[in-house]
Amino acid sequence: MKGTFKLTADRIYNGKGEVRENQYMVLDANGTIKDIQPLPTDVDNSIKKYNGVLVPGFINTHCHLELSHMKGLIPTGTGLVEFIKEVVTKREAHKEIIQDAIFSADKEMYDNGIVAVGDISNVPDSFECKSRSPVKYLTFIEMFDFRQEEDAVRTFNHYLKVYNQLEKFGISGTVVPHAPYSVSRKLFQLINEFNKEKSCPISIHNMETKGENDMFLYNSGEMISFFKNFGISTHELQGISKTAIYYAMQNMDPNKRTLFVHNTLCEEEDISAGMEWNDQIYWTTCPSANLYIENRLPNYRLFADAGSKITIGTDSLTSNWSLNILAEMKTIHKFQSFVKFEELIQWACYNGACALGLENKLGSIEIGKKPGINLLKSVSGETPENLGADLQVKKII
Ligand SMILES: [Zn+2]
Repeated sequence: MKGTFKLTADRIYNGKGEVRENQYMVLDANGTIKDIQPLPTDVDNSIKKYNGVLVPGFINTHCHLELSHMKGLIPTGTGLVEFIKEVVTKREAHKEIIQDAIFSADKEMYDNGIVAVGDISNVPDSFECKSRSPVKYLTFIEMFDFRQEEDAVRTFNHYLKVYNQLEKFGISGTVVPHAPYSVSRKLFQLINEFNKEKSCPISIHNMETKGENDMFLYNSGEMISFFKNFGISTHELQGISKTAIYYAMQNMDPNKRTLFVHNTLCEEEDISAGMEWNDQIYWTTCPSANLYIENRLPNYRLFADAGSKITIGTDSLTSNWSLNILAEMKTIHKFQSFVKFEELIQWACYNGACALGLENKLGSIEIGKKPGINLLKSVSGETPENLGADLQVKKII
């Protein structure tokens, strides 16, 4: 075929949990996969052969590009409540510093083989970069009113102005709630109504810290103290006596593709309740950020046993050392190595593409798709499946 090129490697992972040996793929100059064929016994120079494994482009399902300038500013291990206070106080910076950090973070993701990002925005700072980037962005305009119902309409209208700028920059997205603990019922309602006729997925932070669960279970704990310090009443939470995800489910639309992000504290009942509530539920894990902020990880065994769909996010550079999906896979492997390599690739590729509604083009190596192709190769020659420290990602197309 004219204008095409052929690729192979030791193994090809298709992104949907399968591994292929002795195959090559044919791509056109744009990166669309035209064909996948068995390798001939005599491989000639027309097929480029790599040492290592080929995988689809990575999907980062949770990031806050606009917080990139705070890299290294917040100490590790503070816990979520302290972390939020630090973000609020240290967020302000010179426009140029913010923009430079956003553009370099976007480039970092591109260089690390990330082809699409589910990105949270509270302000329009990242829109210029997203409109120019080769990386595909789905922007979640995140709303919170710190549970003050009387502020819900004003808050909604404030963020609607941010949403309205998406169109000007030609980028796609919608409005979403921040977290069960920070959004009033009234604001949840306004968000639901706005999204009713839209097909865009919805994202929400979920069960990242113990204080969040204590708030809904017992109307006590450090999150409640946080609200009380601001003079905000939490009286209406009396008697809920369920974990935070139940409050989210009560207030969200079960017919929407939904990403629950973090889920560090989720137990078996939370996961099965979520899956019963909505059959388009995705569980986004950001392991490095969980270690950075709370110094703990979700129990992936519970999610795997439930047959739930997991995706991977980096969170922002405020709570991570890099924006690199391979680094997240290594972290999961280091602490919970029972998760198989091909499964991790599926979390990082196909599941992520499905969560963001991009599965028709991205996330798997299949004829007709243009997923981007990454080579995973270890410097020392160690097998890539060991996810060793020196395993690197190289973007091929
Ligand atoms: Zn986040």
